[in-house]
Amino acid sequence: MTTASRPINVAVLGATGSIGQQTLDVIDRNPSRLRLFGLTEGRRSTRRTAEHIVQGQAGDPDFDARVEAMITDPRCDLVVVAIPGARALAPTMSALKAGKEVALATKEVLVMAGELVMRAAGERGIRTVDSEHSAIWQCLWGEKRESVRRLIITASGGPFWAHPELDLDQVTVEQALNHPRWSMGPKITVDSATMMNKGLEVIEAHHLFGTPLDQISVCIHPQSVVHSLVEFIDGSLKAQLGRPDMRLPISVALCYPDRLPGAVQPTPLEELSGLEFHALDEVRFPAVRLAREAARAGHGRPAVLNAANEEAVTAFLAGEIPFSAIVRSVERALAAFPGGGDTMQDILEADRWAREYVKDNSGKLRAK
Ligand code: MG
Repeated sequence: MTTASRPINVAVLGATGSIGQQTLDVIDRNPSRLRLFGLTEGRRSTRRTAEHIVQGQAGDPDFDARVEAMITDPRCDLVVVAIPGARALAPTMSALKAGKEVALATKEVLVMAGELVMRAAGERGIRTVDSEHSAIWQCLWGEKRESVRRLIITASGGPFWAHPELDLDQVTVEQALNHPRWSMGPKITVDSATMMNKGLEVIEAHHLFGTPLDQISVCIHPQSVVHSLVEFIDGSLKAQLGRPDMRLPISVALCYPDRLPGAVQPTPLEELSGLEFHALDEVRFPAVRLAREAARAGHGRPAVLNAANEEAVTAFLAGEIPFSAIVRSVERALAAFPGGGDTMQDILEADRWAREYVKDNSGKLRAK
């Protein structure tokens, strides 16, 4: 499909977000390899020229039809999915069904419908744009699946991990948005503070790499230099390291199997002294346990986990519920969910059910 003689035609869904902007930056700096074929933008303009520029919001019929036309255009080679949340599912499936390569930044897509998405991707798989998963992917290149003992996802810990004295009922939106290492959008920054981001990432890794849930661990690594690791059956550990900069995982996903020269500045080894690794406190941060349980139980529960979390994060950012009520909302939604099926319709129904549950019960969810 792509040849070395012409640049890869890239469509960027969600070009005005943090990942979208950094993707445009990578494309702009590498015109001989990458070409901006199309993009979607929300209220803000990216001031870019491309064959397809689609403005508006996913879910609007006109917007969705124009996105469909862009990503199914025979000239489009690769689709970067960087629309936040569950709205990214439909265009991801469209791109896969059209036979496109997909670089996926929106982990919610795999959390909700991992089996269906991976089946649609088939042999070519999904190119991940999540820093931890990109690290694991790079560690797995050239390795046999049966050689893997365990995937180890690193977590910076977010703004609250290093402050056990903080009462998580009292922390403010400003505190939650103050991530110590990465600059990201508000949803994922709050997910990092609750550790739900790591819960979602465990499910994401399970689908991306076909690894059983009990062979995926989470480890706190406050420096965010080791982006994740793979442990092999001979006891060897492989890690991928570098300064926190999303342009590296973006470049890896866009140019695979090639590496993009100068994608990021190299990291001097002298900067890497004092790397720490700590066990995750699952009592104070129960999100990873909840995610693992939801994925194991299946039948729509991962979609409930994801949708309840999205709604609760929105309510927290609007000042409607305290920080600690985010994970509590997810836990109660999972406990109340009657169980569903595994088709796309069932998953969308579970998503809808969870959103209504959190909205209808926000008063109760506020209290402990
Ligand atoms: Mg990540």
